[in-house]
Amino acid sequence: MFAGPLDESIVKRARDAGLLDLKIHNLRDWTHDRHRTVDDKPFGGGPGMLLKPEPIFEAVEALVGDETQVILLSPSGRKFDQAIARDLAAKKHLLLVCGSYEGFDERVRETLADDELSIGDYVLTNGALPAMIVVDTLTRLLPGALGDDESARDESFSHGLLEYPHYTRPAEFRGMKVPDVLLSGNHAEIEKWRREQAKQKTKTRRPDLME
Ligand code: SAM
Repeated sequence: MFAGPLDESIVKRARDAGLLDLKIHNLRDWTHDRHRTVDDKPFGGGPGMLLKPEPIFEAVEALVGDETQVILLSPSGRKFDQAIARDLAAKKHLLLVCGSYEGFDERVRETLADDELSIGDYVLTNGALPAMIVVDTLTRLLPGALGDDESARDESFSHGLLEYPHYTRPAEFRGMKVPDVLLSGNHAEIEKWRREQAKQKTKTRRPDLME
């Protein structure tokens, strides 16, 4: 699942430039039986299978270094956002542990994880997409990952605000005109307009961000 999204665009460039060293590991490489089993039935019954503790413990113990932060992807985690992303982007080494089936044996959560992140209040099939979302978000925040024209400076959530509206050519399209101020060449006025628009948009759509 990881090959496509992490080999494209900004993440690919960051990897090629050595800003991001990304490795994908397969839990089955830390199993010892013929079938390379990573799951088992839950004690107490119930639907589905759980990830067994042994391969995850072995994998994490083999991969952690002095500065590693081990993060479980899980719907029960704290909700991932831009502030958490900024914090994590400054870390040296992250180990993102993807769940599957019904999730992890609780002992993984209790003793291996430094943090537990959810990407939102919905349930996905496994942790691959959540991990890729975390990697993509963090990569954009690595110094040098974005070109000047892609700057993360004013992006949504960077100042607790949604981003202001953008327009490109033509200045008039099907009777819809670009606001005059953006064509004025007056950078101070443009800056002021954008700040106001960002505040207004945030107030209307996401008042929670301003609290
Ligand atoms: N039984 C679990 C529950 O109800 O919380 C859901 C397990 S889910 C089908 C399998 C795995 O997908 C999880 O262990 C986790 O790694 C990943 N996953 C699913 N939804 C997620 C979310 N919103 N955020 C982060 N990871 C998620």
